[in-house]
Amino acid sequence: MFYPQEFDVIVVGGGHAGTEAALASARMGCKTLLLSHNIETLGQMSCNPSIGGIGKGHLVKEVDAMGGAMALATDEGGIQFRILNGSKGPAVRATRAQADRILYKAAIRRKLENQPNLWLFQQAVDDLMVEGDRVVGAVTQVGIKFRARTVVLTAGTFLDGKIHVGLNNYAAGRAGDPPAVSLSARLKELKLPQGRLKTGTPPRIDGRTIDFSKCTEQPGDGMPGGIEGAVPVFSFMGGNIAHPRQVPCWITHTNERTHDIIRSGFDRSPMFTGKIDGVGPRYCPSVEDKINRFADKDSHQIFLEPEGLTTHEIYPNGISTSLPFDIQYELVRSMVGMENAHILRPGYAIEYDYFDPRALKSSFETRAIGGLFFAGQINGTTGYEEAAAQGMFAGINAALQCQGKDAWLPKRDEAYLGVLVDDLITKGVTEPYRMFTSRAEFRLMLREDNADMRLTEKGRELGLVDDVRWDAFNRKRDAVSRETERLRAIWVNPNTLSVPEAERVLGKAIEREYNFADLLRRPDVNYAGLMSLGEGKYANPDIPLGLTAVSRETALPPGLVKSVVEQIEITAKYAGYIDLQKVEVERAAAYENLKLPPDLDYLQVTALSFEARQKLAKHRPETLGLASRISGITPATVSLLLVHLKKNL
Ligand code: FAD
Repeated sequence: MFYPQEFDVIVVGGGHAGTEAALASARMGCKTLLLSHNIETLGQMSCNPSIGGIGKGHLVKEVDAMGGAMALATDEGGIQFRILNGSKGPAVRATRAQADRILYKAAIRRKLENQPNLWLFQQAVDDLMVEGDRVVGAVTQVGIKFRARTVVLTAGTFLDGKIHVGLNNYAAGRAGDPPAVSLSARLKELKLPQGRLKTGTPPRIDGRTIDFSKCTEQPGDGMPGGIEGAVPVFSFMGGNIAHPRQVPCWITHTNERTHDIIRSGFDRSPMFTGKIDGVGPRYCPSVEDKINRFADKDSHQIFLEPEGLTTHEIYPNGISTSLPFDIQYELVRSMVGMENAHILRPGYAIEYDYFDPRALKSSFETRAIGGLFFAGQINGTTGYEEAAAQGMFAGINAALQCQGKDAWLPKRDEAYLGVLVDDLITKGVTEPYRMFTSRAEFRLMLREDNADMRLTEKGRELGLVDDVRWDAFNRKRDAVSRETERLRAIWVNPNTLSVPEAERVLGKAIEREYNFADLLRRPDVNYAGLMSLGEGKYANPDIPLGLTAVSRETALPPGLVKSVVEQIEITAKYAGYIDLQKVEVERAAAYENLKLPPDLDYLQVTALSFEARQKLAKHRPETLGLASRISGITPATVSLLLVHLKKNL
């Protein structure tokens, strides 16, 4: 039967990509349907109970800056938070949280159920309705036909998923969930280019059977024994959210005996015996892969991470494995503190279909089928954060298409999301893709701390950012600009600033006149130090008092003061480097957006090498910038192509 209502956007899959896609399109006012196997598993973390980390935390902050759910749900469900690389430069600083998976899932479901314009429906999607070269809806397992103008597919690891434990295997989408076999067959029939990837997960342990007294405790920031201060928050709106109780993680290690046990299972490993064809994530390898590849290492660190506050279940991060269960049992028990460990769930690997993201337009719409968008693990990525960011992106672009507007295409110098999308559609993947800060050439500009400054205004323009967030953002932005102006207007000179005071705050006496903004650029000078010189003491009486004084008087929330000060300090200290990056961005932009004719016959551009012609003909990049990032396309090829365009067009 045809469902009696039509939708603007149907999102298939309620994982991290699907939930953000559905929320984004509904926030933009489009009538949206989220179709997923099971309403109980919306927002489920298939693997590790943690969100964020280097590069990934940046994506979460960007999703948050545009009104997405992941950071807020992490603040609601987070049971341990840490700022990674806290002592390094701000570009690589990143937030990471352990999440109580039940609280996290509940937070996501609450957001979905309370989102206007969003309908939820529990059913497997087995087929897509396609008319001509356009998708017009989706058909569920029991034959219900839902019509829509666009469909966003976010099927994760479920497409023709196959679980492996040793030499045993069975069809599944992940442990406990069915695979999507019919949908996978349908996509192959539509001739979308496809491949196989794999990922894995460790056995889970009953915490009551671990002797934590033999392990090393790892507290989170703001916990006793951890880095002093407040517990970090993920969302730019997180100041008002009280995190749940915070708990520590623990560390143990593999040892020579563990490694011998693992090696003894190689002959029954699905990876080493050729049972698995899919390529796994290089940066998140299975423990057998680590022992095989790094044979000279006699120990690996294993983090014992709590899965939640109301369960004893522990996630042993670092022993993802698809070895047979008897080997899993022995290897777990060979580690210190784990001698009596009881495994609650076996580890496993899963193989699944992904679709070559080079077959997508830069909006994530498939080139072959109009209105059909792909996001998340289906595009060859791995990770909740990568999925969430792509989901939001595809949801936005599906909604924009319904509204008859151009796609939103963030550039590489605007957002990690821009880097992610651009890498996927130009380079494709040879293994599951995860985000790193090293992938972003303009990373000094793309920091976690300024994700809101980069994206919230755009989010508001697109209709994604509600009034509460917009108001909070404006308060912060105004405070940053007012305070920066104020610092520029406070001057000190050798006569007004005594040598002992200058030495205390600046490390040495000053030899000429400076304003506070200039002094803040010095590496060892901080805002608090400058304020301790006496607010207003050196200033012209017309200049209002600074943030700390204002917050004392008008109860500006301390969280806001902290983030404003952070913004001012980072912007001052890195201004020189950021200016240099801006020059680079401008240089690249000169040709970045130059559109390439869709009918250009690259094979006839004889000035180019045959290999370059073939690559360009295959990828058919939309712009010269995209062409420049196809692997094997050199700057010289780009120049020749530019000359050809100038001569012939
Ligand atoms: P998923 O989270 O997989 O969600 C897909 C959703 O789509 C599910 O709700 C599913 O029910 C629904 N669905 C699928 N097909 C249909 C259909 N036909 N009809 C209706 N609904 C459908 N990431 C890491 O970063 N590190 C790791 O170590 C890691 N290990 C992993 C190990 C395992 C065993 C698994 C399964 C995943 C692992 N991941 C890991 C990946 C991580 O879980 C995913 O990257 C992330 O969840 C992808 O999000 P997604 O939204 O694309 O898909």
